[in-house]
Amino acid sequence: MSRSLDEFLSKHGLKITPNPISHRTITTTRSFRAGTTIIKSYPLAAFPLPIYEKELCNQCLKNTKLQACSACKKAFYCSSICQKQAWFTQHKFTCKKRLPLKYENIVEGAELDEEMLRRVALLISPHRSGNNGLGDSKLNGLYDILPKEMNISLLIEVFEALQSHKESHPPYALFRYESIASLVVENSNSKASKDIDKLVSYLCIFGCNNFTIHDEQMFGIGEGTYPIGSLFNHSCHPNAVVMYDGVVQIVKCIEDIDAGDEITIAYLDVVHPRRKRREILREKYFFNCHCRKCGDDDKIIVVASLFYELEKKQEWNEAAKVGKIVLAIYLIAYPRFHPMIGWQLFRLGQCMSQCVKDDVDRGGKTREETLIILKHAKRVLAITFGTEIENREVENEIHLLILQMTKLQFQ
Ligand SMILES: [Zn+2]
Ligand SMILES: [Zn+2]
Ligand SMILES: [Zn+2]
Repeated sequence: MSRSLDEFLSKHGLKITPNPISHRTITTTRSFRAGTTIIKSYPLAAFPLPIYEKELCNQCLKNTKLQACSACKKAFYCSSICQKQAWFTQHKFTCKKRLPLKYENIVEGAELDEEMLRRVALLISPHRSGNNGLGDSKLNGLYDILPKEMNISLLIEVFEALQSHKESHPPYALFRYESIASLVVENSNSKASKDIDKLVSYLCIFGCNNFTIHDEQMFGIGEGTYPIGSLFNHSCHPNAVVMYDGVVQIVKCIEDIDAGDEITIAYLDVVHPRRKRREILREKYFFNCHCRKCGDDDKIIVVASLFYELEKKQEWNEAAKVGKIVLAIYLIAYPRFHPMIGWQLFRLGQCMSQCVKDDVDRGGKTREETLIILKHAKRVLAITFGTEIENREVENEIHLLILQMTKLQFQ
């Protein structure tokens, strides 16, 4: 990465370092208190989702009184500043020229990719050709709202250096990208790049870098290409979150962060169980997560399999001890009537019953505890299985164990 990016980041107390596993990391050069804004950035391109096209400004995504473009009546803006910005960066090339595109062979979401590609390609191409088309200085004038050190050239430079993972995209995705890129080339009689390969790489970059812009209630309202935001790595237990004020992306700490720590954000909703998170991160972002939370989930699997081993060896005392730890973890991780909790209660109840039976003193306190566990297992499994799912064997087993435990009490 370049000197200008280093300078830009260092002004914000951040540092970029190459990393063999995650490509690069963004670390802090000073401490940040929870709640502090780490960085604000503008998108290279952003627009409202189609359902909000008439409610949000097409340029800044603010929800105020809008006026339609007088020529096409299809794009809505909050002010003449926004309209001008949009006009010079992309709308003058598409206003009234938007053809009904053919997407029969392309899956859902193609329109958004096409729109994003058109905007980014239009922005990048004139930038590169200097005075040909839109000069950089003119764009910077339009982007006066950008902080001085974050100019359009910096955003473009960072965008082009983002990983496209082109080699990891499946053939059907690349085919889809090629179709979209061809449509953009066909339908833009402008100075936008006609290099299909390059445009396909851009689409690949969008796929694993773009952000869904959300409102304060976290509802998705738009799509944006935020090269600066894309520099942050993912964690399922992030120390920062991404928020928006219109199109302005704000990365905020949600924990106290020490100097030298890595800043991480979540690329997905971390409420998903680990398997789902793995799947999304692998398929959409092409990496395996080794964050703290995923590490903890690994530990859960280790403890759960240790319980299984002890159970198999009929080492009831040890199994009961480990089984209680597994249950405690499950009670935090799963909703209270989840079948995993039901099964764990049942298996723990079985182990504890064995301990009670082996005990010459007939269990005493353990027996009372075992009864509580078994009765709770019965209740949870009754809710998860209900009457629709046949589960007679387990029901009988629980019933029998409860009976045995109660009997022992009176012997
Ligand atoms: Zn606006
Ligand atoms: Zn128009
Ligand atoms: Zn993770």
